[in-house]
Amino acid sequence: MSEGPIRAPRGNQLHCKGWIQEAAMRMLMNNLDPEVAEKPEELIVYGGTGKAARNWEAYRAIVRSLQELENDETLLVQSGKPVGIFKTHPEAPRVLISNAMLVPAWANWDVFRDLERKGLTMFGQMTAGSWIYIGSQGILQGTYETFAQAARRHASGSLKGKWVLTAGLGGMGGAQPLAVTMNGGAALIVEVDPARIDRRIQSGYCDLRADSLDEALGLVRGAVEEGRPLSVGLLGNAAEVYPEIVRRGVVPDFVTDQTSAHDPLNGYIPAGLSLPEAGALRKADPGEYVRRAKESIARHVQAMLDLQARGSVVFDYGNNIRQVAFEAGVREAFSFPGFVPAYIRPMFCEGKGPFRWAALSGDPADIRRTDELVLELFPENRSLARWIEMAREKVQFQGLPARICWLGYGERAKFGLALNELVRRGEISAPIVIGRDHLDCGSVASPNRETEGMKDGSDAVADWPILNALVNTSAGAGWVSVHHGGGVGIGYSIHAGMVVVADGSEEAEGRLRRVLTTDPGMGIIRHVDAGYDEAWETAQRHGVRIPMAEF
Ligand code: NAD
Repeated sequence: MSEGPIRAPRGNQLHCKGWIQEAAMRMLMNNLDPEVAEKPEELIVYGGTGKAARNWEAYRAIVRSLQELENDETLLVQSGKPVGIFKTHPEAPRVLISNAMLVPAWANWDVFRDLERKGLTMFGQMTAGSWIYIGSQGILQGTYETFAQAARRHASGSLKGKWVLTAGLGGMGGAQPLAVTMNGGAALIVEVDPARIDRRIQSGYCDLRADSLDEALGLVRGAVEEGRPLSVGLLGNAAEVYPEIVRRGVVPDFVTDQTSAHDPLNGYIPAGLSLPEAGALRKADPGEYVRRAKESIARHVQAMLDLQARGSVVFDYGNNIRQVAFEAGVREAFSFPGFVPAYIRPMFCEGKGPFRWAALSGDPADIRRTDELVLELFPENRSLARWIEMAREKVQFQGLPARICWLGYGERAKFGLALNELVRRGEISAPIVIGRDHLDCGSVASPNRETEGMKDGSDAVADWPILNALVNTSAGAGWVSVHHGGGVGIGYSIHAGMVVVADGSEEAEGRLRRVLTTDPGMGIIRHVDAGYDEAWETAQRHGVRIPMAEF
């Protein structure tokens, strides 16, 4: 049975026996806050069916366990269900989480769904089942940086006078319109669910809604001609709209997609079906649903290839759409690159990734103070300052106030320790929880996404995320998670997460110093091992020790 609307407690009064347990409880609840989650009544946070807990009984048992957990105990969570509490020691993580892990030969959607139906597993996506999702802002800076990098590479450094065709205004995809307009460009985003478009307009992420392609193209054309930023959510199905754009001979400057194509059963609406019709078919005949979704995905990707042939810059935005289309017979599906090799990897080589923090007080003033701290600590980093200024102005908080900021090796530890100091001095009114996406520099093996096209061919080597979780556990993170299938679906990725809590204590200082070094450090050693010069330079600059490195 579902709960009423969930909202994390605010303020600096404890409901648990320590701040780490309290942080885990509040962040689990925050993931399910209706302001934050896409479908909280089903425990779905984002990314297709990315859930925070296996079912409502498990949710309640996790909350109870966290409230009872002592400061020298560790709670184990197996695919969204609490399964054990052990005595460990005060500096150990308070929670260890494993989500959706399957033995590799069984790691496919069919087996997973069968186990899920039997109540034995749960899809945790990346930050849904590891309780550090912060709403669409969590991907906003990454999306902003991706488009900024694309603009540097293919335009004159800005998207002014350019337009982007994309699809999907869900939890993550919803960041696309604002990321494009922040870069000065125009965006046409195809979305099949009118409620999602309206939600992004309400939150200020998207400017306008159009119900016909003519109207949407007219609006976008006007904006491009005037060099004006504008985002338009077009109500429609990408598998119909993209081919129609090809048929009309219209050529966008950039083309990508962020539907949940990684999960053809639950994340992608086949062409020709209304939302209720799709829901009914999904229930009545899942096999037929998947067949039709894959056929539509093939058409969708074929249109992206056609636009590439006509001159659009096309990239895959991390939803495994090329793989699904390839399996559905589009042999050229991998002719356009993924966004990581195209734009993001140089940042990974510096240990940079989507670092984020949330104010457990619930007070936006605390986040404003942390924004100032970023500006104080890194005055030389102009693009970071620009990001913070824009985020302050444009990002509405969802749930607990939070901030995302791509920081690298060295910067993360410096910032985390300074935050702890602000909490200690009472300049921030309650502890700050610090974490990151699993989409990070040294925490994921995902050959169609984060580790696509590695220099040494090590794309599918998954020792790295496991080492990441192990070292962060040893270093004393607050909670640590290992997941399977995030971003790209079951069978295609293994990844790890960590969260650490700045409560102003000396113990927290030690944890922060260690974890915020080991964690981005994994990104440095992973990329040095794969032969990236930029990572080697970062390692040398910071004295990262790597026994067999030769450059
Ligand atoms: P979501 O499930 O919340 O949203 C998907 C959206 O796509 C929904 O609004 C849905 O209505 C829409 N949609 C489905 N089929 C459609 C169709 N045929 N035409 C038009 N719209 C359609 O998912 P999300 O959290 O927004 O994530 C989207 C995808 O991006 C996922 O595959 C996720 O794994 C991936 N992802 C990418 C990144 C990244 O950094 N690039 C990060 C996280 C997630």
